[in-house]
Amino acid sequence: MNQTYRYDNDLSAPATPATRLAPSPTGALHLGNARTFLINWALATQNNWRIILRIEDLDGPRIKQGSDLGAIDTLRWLGITWHDGPHYQAADLTPYTHAMQTLLDQRLIYPCPATRKEIEASLSAPHADDHERRYPGFHRPTTDADWQRVQQHANDRGLLNEGDWAWRLIVPDQPITIHDTFAPPARVNVQQQVGDFVIASKAGLPAYQLAVVVDDARQSITHVVRGDDLLHASARQHWLYKFLGQEDLIPSYTHLPLVVGPDGRRLAKRHGDTRIASFRDAGVPPERIVGLIAYQAGITQQRTPMTAAQFATEFSLDTLPRTPVTCTQEDTDWLLAP
Ligand code: GLU
Repeated sequence: MNQTYRYDNDLSAPATPATRLAPSPTGALHLGNARTFLINWALATQNNWRIILRIEDLDGPRIKQGSDLGAIDTLRWLGITWHDGPHYQAADLTPYTHAMQTLLDQRLIYPCPATRKEIEASLSAPHADDHERRYPGFHRPTTDADWQRVQQHANDRGLLNEGDWAWRLIVPDQPITIHDTFAPPARVNVQQQVGDFVIASKAGLPAYQLAVVVDDARQSITHVVRGDDLLHASARQHWLYKFLGQEDLIPSYTHLPLVVGPDGRRLAKRHGDTRIASFRDAGVPPERIVGLIAYQAGITQQRTPMTAAQFATEFSLDTLPRTPVTCTQEDTDWLLAP
């Protein structure tokens, strides 16, 4: 049984091109986030994509009170606009439960009590990436009796309830290729990389991978622009689209190089305060933030103040550097210069 999550029910109509700005309210937006949003907005403006603002507030413990409003305020201040939203993911979990039910009906998800420690102890090889160790599948059901227990578990405990179980997706051991309008094609075997991955957490919340697919599909998102730290996540998302019977809704991807600090690591607190709100409090006008991003994006040869509208006119992926952008002391000094 496949379900459709589109807002419009007319699947025969060609989808209106649409993108989303999807901040996670886990902290204040910094220069790296601002760059991704600005480029996403510029591409949307140039190509007449509809823009939806989606607040990705399902990351329980990492959510910071008020940072949703902070993000909205910062986006507006920078000159970024949208047509629809904000939509909050946590406002209604029903669409995610429906998707889980569709997966369960196909025997593709199962509850898993494994702890991080247990997973780490079972691994002899180094892990695939910094964030997620490969899960070797030791709680994956194999027999009919196992699947009956899974069904019983779902009946007794529901699909999205807090408990000692996360839900994992059965992932085929098969590589897939992710095509991107900017990043080179990536061939990823999700099973080899992370194994059966979590789609709902022990906190009883949909995991990012599931939520993003359900929402991109039901909000009819056709173009996804985001940091290239999520390039490999796209492969996980592909499997979900496929199993939900929505392969035709897989969006076009543009994964952008991240902003890094002088040490080459992803821009973060350790590099000092690069929060947009802090620059704003220090009297930096939005045109300087945009001007710096324009310089780093290859639009200008030297740092020059610029409005978001002008950025949207002049931005091109053709001149965007393909390597991570380093945010230097010189950059922040220029922002703060009188
Ligand atoms: N909410 C995610 C973030 O802020 C973006 C996820 C996505 O674009 O798919 O990093």
